[in-house]
Amino acid sequence: MFLRFMILGLLAYLFLVLIYSSIKRKGKGSATDPSQGESMVLDPHCKSYVPKNEAYQSHGHYFCSEECAQAYAAQQV
Ligand SMILES: [Zn+2]
Repeated sequence: MFLRFMILGLLAYLFLVLIYSSIKRKGKGSATDPSQGESMVLDPHCKSYVPKNEAYQSHGHYFCSEECAQAYAAQQV
């Protein structure tokens, strides 16, 4: 009786660990890793990475903001 309870408890524990690790794996690599999932682009002015869909595009480069794009364009002249 007690052994059966222990086995059930162990199975439940393993099940929870499996679920937890799969959730953890799924969450990884989406926002933190720039090489996976959403593509990140480098702002050549302030050297920061921004998500491509949020980036400001100008002169063939991607910037984090319009200010950076203007500052970069001003530097090129
Ligand atoms: Zn910037």
